[in-house]
Amino acid sequence: MYKTDNLAAKLSAKNILNADYSDKRILIRSCLNVAMDKSGKISDRTRVDEALPTIKKLSEKAKQIVIMAHLGRPTPAREPEFSLEPVRVVLENELATEVKLIKEYTDYTDLTEGKITTKIVLLENIRFSPGEESKNLSERENFARELAKLGDIYVNDAFPDYREAASTYDIAKYLPSYLGPVFVREVEAMSNFANPKRPFLAILGGAKLSEKLDALNALAQSADKVIIGGAMAYTLLLSDGVHIGKSLVEADKLEIAKEILAKYRDKLILPVDHVVASEFSSDSEVSTIPAVNIPEDRIAVDIGPETQRLFVNEIKQAKSILWNGPMGVFEWEQTAQGTRKVGQAIVDNKDAYKFAGGGDSIAAINKFDLTGFDHISTGGGAMLAFLSYDTFPTLDIILNN
Ligand code: AMP
Repeated sequence: MYKTDNLAAKLSAKNILNADYSDKRILIRSCLNVAMDKSGKISDRTRVDEALPTIKKLSEKAKQIVIMAHLGRPTPAREPEFSLEPVRVVLENELATEVKLIKEYTDYTDLTEGKITTKIVLLENIRFSPGEESKNLSERENFARELAKLGDIYVNDAFPDYREAASTYDIAKYLPSYLGPVFVREVEAMSNFANPKRPFLAILGGAKLSEKLDALNALAQSADKVIIGGAMAYTLLLSDGVHIGKSLVEADKLEIAKEILAKYRDKLILPVDHVVASEFSSDSEVSTIPAVNIPEDRIAVDIGPETQRLFVNEIKQAKSILWNGPMGVFEWEQTAQGTRKVGQAIVDNKDAYKFAGGGDSIAAINKFDLTGFDHISTGGGAMLAFLSYDTFPTLDIILNN
């Protein structure tokens, strides 16, 4: 996708900040998918903080801003814990102006008839509407048509919400459509990998190979080297005949893992030693296995010291670095070292273009106070999809609008 011709010019033409939106009703799709704790309080508001400057800026000239967003994955029962009310409160405080929540997705008539004059309006969790993610296209489009009545212009600023839904995709069929600055920045940052400074090093980690297969395939083609850490490395190692003990593995992905190794063996860099535990628990004692094979009764929980050296050495030589996913169970102190060392080596490489993305990488960046990335993407899945495929529907529909 990032190899699209004239992408920079196309992005600029569709950036809402370059358009005339004075006195218009702007219908904006923001990503306000904050993390909530069990008591219903917001535990991480990164997403709101990222969305706020756009809303603030647009509200200076627009007639009205109607915000669409989702929170979590509610069922059609519309559980109250998925209400955007706590987010509305944050928006109201930060914007220092009233933000009105419209609760009923079945009835937006007060808005369409101009009876609601509040400048900033937030629609309740857009996923409460069955039309939003319906598998039936005409149902989705019908809902998108209802939504389209709420604005004169549509703006998509929700890069992380990249799946085709009424509010992220279909709506662009019915209104003049633009991209918000957060979306534009994400795409611009990733477009650096269309013609990367070389060596281009990709670093993938995390739990599941299955979730990163397409990205791994794409990156193995475009990058010079791909480092693989975290649990996903063990499916690849097992497929190569290495003993992995009780380490996490995706047995149904062994064949595909074998194929990937056969195709890209010279580019892939896998762990050569490991930190292991006897139980998968934060208080389990850990030890180092100074070899690639792991004893039957042990679980790999982090990369070993030799692997750390190997990975750090590659990172030092890279001129472009893309990082997604931890090298081990970084949440536990005794198994955080691999991720910490890799993260630190990335930010210590002052010459390279440094890009990180995904929830766990961001958690690690915050935990280890790693500063100096050129770009940090909050949309892990979206970032991988963008790098993997030739199309990115929520962007394409606006660029071609
Ligand atoms: P993901 O969401 O796929 O990026 O995976 C992130 C999770 O993978 C983190 O919660 C890590 O604790 C976990 N993880 C990383 N390495 C391992 C490992 N060797 N065994 C089990 N879990 C791991």
